[in-house]
Amino acid sequence: MDVLELCDIYYAATGREILAGLSLSIRAGEVHALLGTNGTGKSTLASMIMGCHGYQPASGEIFFDGTLINNLKIHERARLGLCMAWQEPARFEGLRVRDYLKLGAVAEEPESALQLVGLEPFRYLDRMVDRSLSGGERKRIELASVLALRPKLAILDEPDSGIDMLSTDDIIRVLDRLRSGGSAVLLITHRDEICAAADRASQICGGRIVSTGRPDEIAAAFKNRKCISCDGEVCNDDRI
Ligand code: ADP
Ligand code: MG
Repeated sequence: MDVLELCDIYYAATGREILAGLSLSIRAGEVHALLGTNGTGKSTLASMIMGCHGYQPASGEIFFDGTLINNLKIHERARLGLCMAWQEPARFEGLRVRDYLKLGAVAEEPESALQLVGLEPFRYLDRMVDRSLSGGERKRIELASVLALRPKLAILDEPDSGIDMLSTDDIIRVLDRLRSGGSAVLLITHRDEICAAADRASQICGGRIVSTGRPDEIAAAFKNRKCISCDGEVCNDDRI
């Protein structure tokens, strides 16, 4: 059973085609890693699945749990069990960490959610979710909120990026907890050792998924710049 199915998605922004015939399925409960060079449309895809304003596909279908969700707004998708930790985490001025972590929470208490992301609860529960937190702290707190929500599908956009980034062990602990709670995960990452913790992986290039399979095989192909779609043109770009 697929929790998410993307069928032949096309999307362009300011005249530039970003997604072109992209199809991808995520099975219920699986951790699915998505690999791709910078600028290949991973964050665009994440925003589209979540239903962010301005990210409607020009054509193609998005099914969540068998329901067509193309026309659903972000909060309606959240209610169905979709949730996302952004590459650039959000700030909520005036909201304490303990209250943020209680919003819609069904799984973890704020204390255990913070512990799972490597933060000491007593140091953070009464802090504000604002710019007084570092980027890495906000990323951790956002992941703690995903753990507390226990969604059907969590989209984690580069949980390993940033200056004071989470360690591989931190991220694998979060993935294990999501998996054991029954959540599926779409995991956008550049790190091999994190990709290796996934159940399956896909590579995106040229606006579409060019291969899906075992994480070690997909990661090795990505590293070797072997891409059946761009023949090296995009994957040999050294920006990543
Ligand atoms: P990734 O997350 O894989 O690094 P993004 O999805 O952030 O890539 O971006 C994909 C491409 O689309 C980039 O070239 C980016 O500059 C472009 N892009 C993203 N959003 C917009 C937008 N709103 N208008 C124009 N171009 C955009
Ligand atoms: Mg991105």
